[in-house]
Amino acid sequence: MSDCLFCKIIKGEIPSKKVFENNDYFAFRDINPQAPTHVLVIPKKHVAKLTDLKAGDEALVGGLFTVANIIAGEEKIDRKGFRTVLNCGELAGQTVFHLHLHLLGGRMFNWPPG
Ligand code: AMP
Ligand code: ZN
Repeated sequence: MSDCLFCKIIKGEIPSKKVFENNDYFAFRDINPQAPTHVLVIPKKHVAKLTDLKAGDEALVGGLFTVANIIAGEEKIDRKGFRTVLNCGELAGQTVFHLHLHLLGGRMFNWPPG
């Protein structure tokens, strides 16, 4: 998707603070962090939102969590705990329509979330 912000970040057309990359995934620091660690994990394949996933995309979603887990270890937030968030649609507050998993850590989180 040529006009997608996160596709441009993957291609390096918009700068980001990259923390992970492999063939299928890219991860970078959120520009407006909500915790000491706030990383966005995205698939390189453009999918706008969770409800656009198709049968057969299970591995793509699973990989988001595998990458989040690797980064949590690197950021040393895995032992005390962390939160992953995937906002879908307007009421959840999704603002960028390229699937992304938030990885948040380094502070206490409330439940229920805001
Ligand atoms: P969401 O509200 O779930 O769609 O999350 C989108 C996230 O993308 C927000 O936390 C933003 O702070 C973050 N964001 C927007 N633009 C950028 C950017 N250029 N680089 C890094 N993070 C961004
Ligand atoms: Zn995209």
